[in-house]
Amino acid sequence: MILADADLRGAMRPANTLFEGMARTAGINIDDSYIQNQLEGMQIISPSGLAVTIPAPGYFLDRRKLDDYYLRLAQDAGVAFLTGSVQEAKLQGTRRVVWIGEERIDARVVIDASGVAGSIACREGLEPMRHREDVAWAMEADVELAGLGDEPLFQYWIGSISPGWKATFSPAGGDRATLGVFVRGHGQNVQPFFRGFLSRFKAFKSTQYRDMEKMKILSIRRGGDPIAVLPGEIVADSLMVAGGAAGQSGLAYSIRAGRICGSVAAQAAAKRDVSRRSLYRYVRLWNREFYWQYRMGRASLQTLSAMKDPEIDRLVRGLSGKRLISRGSFARKAVLAGAATALSRPRTVLDLARNLMRG
Ligand SMILES: Cc1cc2nc3c(=O)[nH]c(=O)nc-3n(C[C@H](O)[C@H](O)[C@H](O)COP(=O)(O)OP(=O)(O)OC[C@H]3O[C@@H](n4cnc5c(N)ncnc54)[C@H](O)[C@@H]3O)c2cc1C
Repeated sequence: MILADADLRGAMRPANTLFEGMARTAGINIDDSYIQNQLEGMQIISPSGLAVTIPAPGYFLDRRKLDDYYLRLAQDAGVAFLTGSVQEAKLQGTRRVVWIGEERIDARVVIDASGVAGSIACREGLEPMRHREDVAWAMEADVELAGLGDEPLFQYWIGSISPGWKATFSPAGGDRATLGVFVRGHGQNVQPFFRGFLSRFKAFKSTQYRDMEKMKILSIRRGGDPIAVLPGEIVADSLMVAGGAAGQSGLAYSIRAGRICGSVAAQAAAKRDVSRRSLYRYVRLWNREFYWQYRMGRASLQTLSAMKDPEIDRLVRGLSGKRLISRGSFARKAVLAGAATALSRPRTVLDLARNLMRG
């Protein structure tokens, strides 16, 4: 097996936070080696500054160490690494001929895990995202200010500050944190939203940190977050798509999807049947595990996008003090969260249903 990556040890990979519940659901055992900071939960903050706190433990990760951990696992499993950009993966008989620069590889199965661009699958005529137009474009900064990274909660602002998704504050420990905006429906240049959020964030924290104006921006990352797009066509003869490329958003769920995809690919290759029909088992297994979670996630984001700031304020006011996270299955949690939402704003549930039907 060969793992080809244009930037195998990339220093600027975006995702660096993970919630324990998500990791558990995805069957991931979090390893201490890549935890940079442990957080007690999250706070959702409405446009007028009302907050609801959710006690969901999470982590800020050392992304370089996370990548090293998984590269080591791959190496131990006998995977060979190749640095280079895959140009194409054309079907020839029952194989794909992959070109990486001057290098030719004849592969039984190619898995495109190239992130939101999904460039390999798209070139082969697949559209692996169902709603590509709904990718959230993001800009995230590493910032530094004495003590800022020691806060105990992730903070997520919703509403027109970052339309369609969220603006984030993630404490990385000590003096480090990240600030980001994730915007849907406003194109890829989200810098104006980032500037707006930066001023808002400084004003919000100014009573807590007297020297807020001294906060330094150390570096910036940009990219697309496929949070609400849903998978589209993710298998063809001898070709599969996983992770961000397939609209399977988030670190934990992308890792889980990659595992399902990899095991179906290995079994199909061993049986010498890598036809679309055989590889379609991956779609069935993924659907069984995740389809409704993703559908509900998309529906709630569509609802959020359609809400005006005063409505979001009312929703958050109604939710504060209610129990949003409980023990138990995902279905039970969804019902409880749905009930809490319904109590505070009955139309939200109707909006969710409408979005679910629209798909
Ligand atoms: C700014 C930002 C912050 C985010 N923060 C979080 C977060 O904190 N937590 C979270 O869970 N999710 C987060 N996300 C979402 C998350 O990044 C994605 O869901 C996740 O990275 C998808 O992982 P992936 O491995 O599929 O794709 P990627 O992480 O994008 O990796 C794709 C890889 O493919 C390689 N590649 C691309 N094209 C080719 C080619 N032609 N040939 C060879 N190699 C190629 C790239 O070099 C890269 O290494 C964030 C997204 C953004 C944009």
